[in-house]
Amino acid sequence: MNWGAKAITIVGGGLAGLTLGIGLRQRGVSTVVIEAGSYPRHRVCGEFISGRGLAVLDGLGLRDRLLEAGARPARSVRFFTPRRASPLCRLPQPALALSRYRLDALLAAEFTRAGGALRTQTRWTTPVFGPGVVRATGRRPRPVEGGRRWFGLRVHARHVSLTADLEMHLTPQGYVGLCQLAGEVVNVCGLFWARPPRAHPTPASPHWLRGEPGSPLHQRLEEAEFLPDSFRSVAGLSLRPRYAREREEVCVGDALTMIPPVTGNGMSLAFESAALAAPSLARFTTGALDWEGVRRQTAENCDTALARRLAWAWWLQRALSHPSLAALVATLVPRVPLLWPVLFARTR
Ligand SMILES: Cc1cc2nc3c(=O)[nH]c(=O)nc-3n(C[C@H](O)[C@H](O)[C@H](O)COP(=O)(O)OP(=O)(O)OC[C@H]3O[C@@H](n4cnc5c(N)ncnc54)[C@H](O)[C@@H]3O)c2cc1C
Repeated sequence: MNWGAKAITIVGGGLAGLTLGIGLRQRGVSTVVIEAGSYPRHRVCGEFISGRGLAVLDGLGLRDRLLEAGARPARSVRFFTPRRASPLCRLPQPALALSRYRLDALLAAEFTRAGGALRTQTRWTTPVFGPGVVRATGRRPRPVEGGRRWFGLRVHARHVSLTADLEMHLTPQGYVGLCQLAGEVVNVCGLFWARPPRAHPTPASPHWLRGEPGSPLHQRLEEAEFLPDSFRSVAGLSLRPRYAREREEVCVGDALTMIPPVTGNGMSLAFESAALAAPSLARFTTGALDWEGVRRQTAENCDTALARRLAWAWWLQRALSHPSLAALVATLVPRVPLLWPVLFARTR
């Protein structure tokens, strides 16, 4: 224990905040995580962890914990339009499918086990994130544009049979991902660019997620039993990529920038940005770096690692939100076997 060292406060106990906390604790840094909610809790998420973030979890020694908690290796993906299906695509490396209900609670327990102080049901209300305080508060809202906005819905379901570990169904207003979890449960998660439903979506109204009658998505969910307690919705997402250097605070995860969810890479970015911030933060606590130095170094590291991938993901998301381009992508993906692996690799 270094008695003269400063402590780090992380605001937000989501994936970015908790993995940063674990990384700092493994470096012996005194760390507090302040979280507005509590654990376990359901989140709007595709629950599909892929990309470089898996290496971060390995580095923190967490992969085995995830597997013990029921994470399911996912090796295949298929794309669908209302009329077409792609062949089965093999992932270059297996992803992991784990419910956020278990994942967030597991990371919270690991952080506490590593000696971190976790304050749940505590909201940070100070507008300033000064020296020693990291913003990991998740996605930043974006107002309605032209009456439309991005909104996400997610629910767990039973009695759904999939033809791949992950099925991506493109719909006229966005997409719905079906991801096989442990225990015969399938995660049903959709992102839509539309006028949000007049009434706040409720567990009784998962029709947005069901797709058009006759479509493969509709067929998949015909016999589905939705688990109402797992239903969550989120609206007003901002998917435009941001450079870390534009941020005046030290930020990680979605608070830094949000990669369009269609890439299934947001959790990875949360883990990666946390890993990129940890070394400079540890140096700050010993007095080897000032706070502005931490901000600059973290921003440089994040921009170098993420900017190109974010730009590709943004164009992909734009294409999918433009009806005629979405129709083109939807037609090409099943027909051009190399298109999806190339797009996939560009966002990782
Ligand atoms: C529809 C949809 C589907 C997605 N699918 C996938 C997918 O399949 N794969 C993937 O990798 N990613 C996916 N993502 C993205 C992924 O969910 C996010 O990138 C990830 O959750 C970001 O983690 P985070 O820690 O930055 O934010 P969060 O997990 O949102 O955590 C932020 C935390 O901060 C807390 N907080 C906020 N404000 C305060 C405050 N003032 N005081 C205290 N606490 C506060 C919140 O309570 C929350 O717990 C998806 C996202 C959406 C919207």
